[in-house]
Amino acid sequence: MRDDVKDILRKHDLKATPQRIMVYGKLLELGHASADMIYTQLNKENPEMTVATTYNILESFVKAGIIKRLFSSTNKMFFDINTKPHCHIYTETGDHYTDLFDPKLTEIISDYLLSKKIRNFEIEDVSIEIVAKRKNEKNYK
Ligand SMILES: [Zn+2]
Repeated sequence: MRDDVKDILRKHDLKATPQRIMVYGKLLELGHASADMIYTQLNKENPEMTVATTYNILESFVKAGIIKRLFSSTNKMFFDINTKPHCHIYTETGDHYTDLFDPKLTEIISDYLLSKKIRNFEIEDVSIEIVAKRKNEKNYK
């Protein structure tokens, strides 16, 4: 896995530093996470990791296009390891994202917006967040 991460970083002109490898690896493990969630987990084993370093590394990944930035309905910033078009189901309990891959839904929305001929804009991405709660909230941790 470590070599795969190095390849991904190098492919995007990012030097494969140990800290970048750790941050990417942790986001790969978590799928969706805030900078604080990643920092909290990494700092336990790597006290030299700071929130600022974690955040700066994540921002460099966003700029390079290897991860995406998300803003939850509760105004929290998250990062997503998956850059392919997809929608999200967000549960406020536990600040949890679940991916919803539905190319048809994305296509319907894109086609609808294109049919409206929004002047001076070109659609780059369609991002939908469905806010929901689990039916058996008590049983979910
Ligand atoms: Zn996602």
